[in-house]
Amino acid sequence: MKEYRGFLIDLDGTVYKGTEKIDEAVTFVKQLKDKGFPYLFLTNNSTKHPSDVSDKLNQMGVPSTTDQVFTSSMATAHYIKQQEPNAKVYPVGEKGLHMALEDADLEIVDENADYVVMGLDQTINYEKLAKGALNIRAGATFVATNGDVALPTERGFLPGAGSLISVLSVTTGVEPTFIGKPESIIVDQALEVLGTTRDETLMIGDNYATDILAGINAGIDSLLVHTGVTTKEDLKTIQNKPTYTIDTLAEWTIED
Ligand SMILES: [Mg+2]
Repeated sequence: MKEYRGFLIDLDGTVYKGTEKIDEAVTFVKQLKDKGFPYLFLTNNSTKHPSDVSDKLNQMGVPSTTDQVFTSSMATAHYIKQQEPNAKVYPVGEKGLHMALEDADLEIVDENADYVVMGLDQTINYEKLAKGALNIRAGATFVATNGDVALPTERGFLPGAGSLISVLSVTTGVEPTFIGKPESIIVDQALEVLGTTRDETLMIGDNYATDILAGINAGIDSLLVHTGVTTKEDLKTIQNKPTYTIDTLAEWTIED
């Protein structure tokens, strides 16, 4: 086992399940903190502000500052800022997306947008989709926080961001640029925040299709932990395996 200096850690299914913490993950993150290893929580959840996420983590006993949370909304806002610093943006999403755009000093507009940005919006309605479609048809670039089709909840799998986004792509015939995992865009940005190199960083997550593929696409090693979405059975049919696979984070030894 190689020694890693930096850790990118998924949240749901890896550190907690909905409102329930995963004890082995709590211990794991505490050890990272005690030993002084940089870590960053990397989530496709575009709806929350990083301060809300770090509050939730701290309540669960997982040490986290706001700066240690990196969301697909933040990555999307940074991406647009890099492409066009004075871009006007029409967002379809929740608080986390709106605040990330504001934090990046991007102007939010209803019409004549340079970008239409879409993430999960649990109060989606026809008018929001109509404005999104009109802006894209008028030439706005279509960007999406993440493509997750289903959202795991206590009620079962609900429509995810990707499902809602498909309405706009079907309507306009335009496929968005996706930013969140498994795209390397979000991992590249996260590495800059974390300050470690590709070679010394490990991506940890429960979902092969997002977390592990994000690691593979970005050229960093990956650790699949079977506390969430991807089962051992699922992995059997997958060619390009994670670098490591474990049942819980208690099995992972952190070097000094
Ligand atoms: Mg997960």
